[in-house]
Amino acid sequence: MLVTKQNLTSTDMNELKATGIAERIVVSSSKAPLTSRDFQNDTSIVEVGNARFGAEKIVIVAGPCSVEGREQLLETARAAKRLGVSLLRGGVFKPRTSPYEFQGLGEAGLKLLAEAREETGLPVVTEVLEPQKVDLVAKYSDMLQIGTRNVQNFALLRAVGKSRTPVILKRGMMTTIDEWLQAAEYILLEGNQNVVLCERGIRTFERATRNTLDLAAVPILRKATHLPVMVDPSHATGSRELITPMAKAAIAAGADALMIETHPTPETALSDSQQQLDLTEFADLMKELDVIAKAVGRSVR
Ligand code: PEP
Ligand code: MN
Repeated sequence: MLVTKQNLTSTDMNELKATGIAERIVVSSSKAPLTSRDFQNDTSIVEVGNARFGAEKIVIVAGPCSVEGREQLLETARAAKRLGVSLLRGGVFKPRTSPYEFQGLGEAGLKLLAEAREETGLPVVTEVLEPQKVDLVAKYSDMLQIGTRNVQNFALLRAVGKSRTPVILKRGMMTTIDEWLQAAEYILLEGNQNVVLCERGIRTFERATRNTLDLAAVPILRKATHLPVMVDPSHATGSRELITPMAKAAIAAGADALMIETHPTPETALSDSQQQLDLTEFADLMKELDVIAKAVGRSVR
C-alpha cells in the first residue's frame, strides 16, 4: 500500500512506524515520488528481449514511422538486425493530425510486426492509442509506446500501468518535465515499473525544426528520476539531415536509448517522409554513433 501525504510531521512518521505495517518509508518532496531517485537511487534497467534500457549499452530502436506492408517492414527489420539495432519500431495505430491522412494498418500491421520479430528475433515496439486496445497491442508486441499526444490521457496511462508490458512514454509536445514525470507516476502507481521516458521535442516559436529538441531534459531527468531516458531526434527535428547530429548530441548528453525512424524508401513513406533515414543513411549513422558512444564509455552494439 502506498501512503502519500504532504507535510508529514515527525509525529505522523512515528505513528506510521509504530503500526509496523509499512514495509518501507520513503520521504520525498517529488510530485512523482515513485519515479524519483528518493524512491530508488539506482537507474532502473528495463529489459525487453535482449535489450536493457538503462545499462551501459545504448539501446537503438529503429524502424519505419508506419508499418505499410510486409516487404517494407521485413526489409527494414533485416537491415536493422544486421546493423545491431536492439528493437524494431513501427506504428500501426497512427495518431494523425488530419483524419484524412493514413491511419495505420491496425491489427493487420500488428501481425506483420509479429512476423518481423519471428524472422529476425528482434523485439518490437508500437504505439497504443486507446485503453481498450492495450491487451490487443500487448499480445503482438514486446513494448508499448504512448505518444506525445496521449501523455496526459490518464485512462490510457492507467491501463498501460495495469499491463506488465514495458512502455516508452514520450514527452508531450506541450508538457513540462514535471508534468511528464507525473504522467509516468500514473503508470508506476498501477504496478508497471518498466517505463522508459522519451524526449521527442516540444513546441516553441522556432519553425526551422518541426519541434525543439530539449536536450537539457536528459541530464535533468538523469538527476530527477531512476527511469531510463531515450531521445527521438526524428520527431524532434522533422528533418532527415538533422537526425545524425542530434542523435550524436543525445548520446553525448547521456541518453540511454535512441529512437530513429528508418524506411527503405523514405520519399514514398505514408507518414513522416521528411524525417526517415534510408537504410544506407541509417547504416552510416550507426557507424558515427559507435564513435560517440565509445567516447562516453558506452557502446551502441
Ligand atoms: C511516432 O513515434 O511515430 C510518433 C507518432 O511519435 P510522437 O508521438 O512523438 O509524435
Ligand atoms: Mn513518425
